[in-house]
Amino acid sequence: MKRIILITAVALFLAPAAGGWGRLGHSTIAEIAERHLTPEARANIEKYTHGTPLAEFASWMDEIVVTPPYLEEFKGWHASVCTPDCKSPLYVRKQVRNCRDGVTAMEFFREYLKDYKEMPDSVVLEAIKCIVHIVGDFHCPAHVRYTDENNGLGYQVMFFGKSWKLHSVWDSGIIQKASGLDYRGYREYADRLDTWNKRQIRKVTKGWAREWFEDVASDVRPTIRTIPEGAELGDEYVEANIGLAELELRKAAYQLAKALNTIFTSSPA
Ligand SMILES: [Zn+2]
Repeated sequence: MKRIILITAVALFLAPAAGGWGRLGHSTIAEIAERHLTPEARANIEKYTHGTPLAEFASWMDEIVVTPPYLEEFKGWHASVCTPDCKSPLYVRKQVRNCRDGVTAMEFFREYLKDYKEMPDSVVLEAIKCIVHIVGDFHCPAHVRYTDENNGLGYQVMFFGKSWKLHSVWDSGIIQKASGLDYRGYREYADRLDTWNKRQIRKVTKGWAREWFEDVASDVRPTIRTIPEGAELGDEYVEANIGLAELELRKAAYQLAKALNTIFTSSPA
């Protein structure tokens, strides 16, 4: 990561890969987080983003996922691993490219970016894009990988009469159906979800990625193995699960703000 990685033009021609939350979810998380940045963190981040909204970077990791060198570089960061009792094994490595999962990468970035002011701008911008995405991904139920289960949900179900991977239902189907919005509606979705008070926000932003992810894993655990392959899912399934999906979107948003405020503020509160 110390080296400067050029964003290849090739990436622009690749169709976005289906990823945690899809564009609506990731952009909504980033939009809410941006509204909760400290003035100092906002100013420091804008030196690298030049005012581009964080929401526009939120799915970048999914868009370049199959592009070398990112294929190797980011392998594994879109999901995070936990034990059956919802503990993160935390595969901490000093080499970010060998990280095993998103939570580990977030633990790494906290240390790595301590001297961000000494780094090339392009390296810091790339790290910002990664952080904005990774915090979203490890809150997506289909991206929680229990060591005793394959929770990738990579099998087909019928969702409102069409064949979908259950994974994609969680990535984007539930929140799109419930909100009535597509990715262009992320600001409106952010308005609807950004309703927690300071006490609620403080409660869910204690700690760092490891604690946040273990909390997600506990929330998600009861939902696994409940849907058989080929099941017919519709309004009832959306209504039963939108609460969990929106809970994780909110947690991701406020925790992303906390992460960025911590890294990009000299003396975070
Ligand atoms: Zn992803």
